[in-house]
Amino acid sequence: MSPERRCASTPAVTSSGTRSMSEPTVKMSPTEGVEMRVQVDERVCQGHTLCAMVAPDLFTLRDEDGHSEANDGGRIASGQEQAANSAISSCPERAIQMIEG
Ligand code: SF4
Repeated sequence: MSPERRCASTPAVTSSGTRSMSEPTVKMSPTEGVEMRVQVDERVCQGHTLCAMVAPDLFTLRDEDGHSEANDGGRIASGQEQAANSAISSCPERAIQMIEG
């Protein structure tokens, strides 16, 4: 299983071949003064629910299929940046992106 498609509970394989339980290295910092949004790639989301558990103010799971949708058009309000990064890091499918706008 490649690191890009692993479950969040599966340890990452490092370049040295050892396993690490650290979070994926998704580090995105909103630039000050630039409005940022999160978006969920519906083709990739598998409904693992982790994003909504980590950041319930940012994501809602659809009743019909359990897949995630970003609330409020994905707008990240002031103070929600850490929650957005945590949700991105928690998604085992890498379905969440942070974009400008
Ligand atoms: S965006 Fe990722 S963590 Fe959220 S429900 Fe979809 S697959 Fe799961």
